[in-house]
Amino acid sequence: MKTLYRQFTVATLFLLVISILIGFIIANAFYLAVTKEETIEQNVAIAEEIVGTLEVVPYSADGFESYLEAVAKLGYQIALVDSAGNKTFFGEPFDDTAFPEEAERVLTEGAVYTGLDNFTGRIFMIGHFTNELHNTVGVPFEQGGERYGLFIRPDTKLVATDIHSVLIGFVAAIALVIIIGMLWMARQLTRPIVQLTEATKHIARENFSYPLDIRRNDEIGQLSESFNLMQNQLKHNDLARKSFISNVSHDFQSPLMNIQGYADLLKADDLPDADRLAYTAIIDQEAKRLSSLTRQLLLLTSLDQGAYPMKAEEFALDEQLKGAVRKYRWRLEEEDINLSYHLAPTRFRGDAELLENVWENLLTNAIKYNKPGGSIEIGLHSDEESVQVSFKDTGVGISEEALGQLFDRFYRGDAARNTDGTGLGLSIVHQVVTLHHGKIDVKSKPGDGSEFIITLPLTDRIRN
Ligand code: ADP
Repeated sequence: MKTLYRQFTVATLFLLVISILIGFIIANAFYLAVTKEETIEQNVAIAEEIVGTLEVVPYSADGFESYLEAVAKLGYQIALVDSAGNKTFFGEPFDDTAFPEEAERVLTEGAVYTGLDNFTGRIFMIGHFTNELHNTVGVPFEQGGERYGLFIRPDTKLVATDIHSVLIGFVAAIALVIIIGMLWMARQLTRPIVQLTEATKHIARENFSYPLDIRRNDEIGQLSESFNLMQNQLKHNDLARKSFISNVSHDFQSPLMNIQGYADLLKADDLPDADRLAYTAIIDQEAKRLSSLTRQLLLLTSLDQGAYPMKAEEFALDEQLKGAVRKYRWRLEEEDINLSYHLAPTRFRGDAELLENVWENLLTNAIKYNKPGGSIEIGLHSDEESVQVSFKDTGVGISEEALGQLFDRFYRGDAARNTDGTGLGLSIVHQVVTLHHGKIDVKSKPGDGSEFIITLPLTDRIRN
């Protein structure tokens, strides 16, 4: 795999090589255009200075040589050639002492020789540094009636002064710092990505507790923050899913065991009729509970997945509420509960079937969790923006603590222990109200009763 780190490193090194090449080409062009000519002129001027001195002082072989040796020490390589072609060298020796044809003209015609010009054919300035006799400047002079040629070139070793070493060190240090800095930056950039990849693998294996500690103020920081949020949400969903499955299993298991147990008892030949009736009643009740549980679960699941085909139709909400009351009239009488309602005629647009479920759940809860001889009040009124439906009972009420869990799936309060139910009713109420973009308010005082207020926004069509 081409890791990001490797790609970054290769790109950095590539850029460095390219910049060195470009820098070299520019420096070379500058040398050819400006520096080379200046260097030749400078060297010719120095050579002429030297021969100027030699020409004015009276000739003495010793003095002549020691003067040229002193000049060589100042940083020059010198070749003194007499008209017979004999060469005497001063300073650092040349690597190649071949005498170029061009240079003969110094002795024969008294011309000035500029060796660097011989490198015009070459593109690079490397010629400037070759330690050879033909890479010199030569000037003629006369001494004691004889013509000599003085050929000099700056000794590159001596010319490379302290300032050059400082400069080279400076450039090398910059390059080193840049390379190390780039590698460090690449590491900093890729490390969190590697961590994120590792965390993703853990999530794929359903481990939602992988510690991801990336604290940064940039896009990667934001990404890891979102990742942590996602991880927490997945963890929460996973727990909810597991507890949902265990609740469902338990809620299916207990009625099934009851049915199985009482069915076994029914097999006895000498069973009194009264017991037989009681057992079949229990089996019937448990079978109904299973059926209602399945129906509610199916409804919740389809609401969850957004698979439920919402039907938006306009209907009389007050009539629907009256219908629900009529349906449960027998239970109200059985429990001796007094019900009153104030239902303003209201047209509403929504899914009538789902909303019927809501009212039935709220009404049966108001009956189930009421006290014998208690009462229920149902209210319906609307304004420009919304309709409000309230169910108020004088039942056992709901504790502060239970209020927070009321709409959780399978939540059943203490009061629900002795009543039938699945703990899914209010979850369905919540889902349906949310689908209609509404909200639920619950007011309750333990011991005094509860009030559930559903607010549903009116659609534009109804408002008109
Ligand atoms: P259940 O099938 O238990 O009625 P719900 O989801 O309808 O399930 O209600 C969840 C729990 O909320 C109930 O078990 C009960 O403890 C509490 N609850 C719901 N409605 C009322 C109410 N009107 N008065 C008191 N407690 C209520």
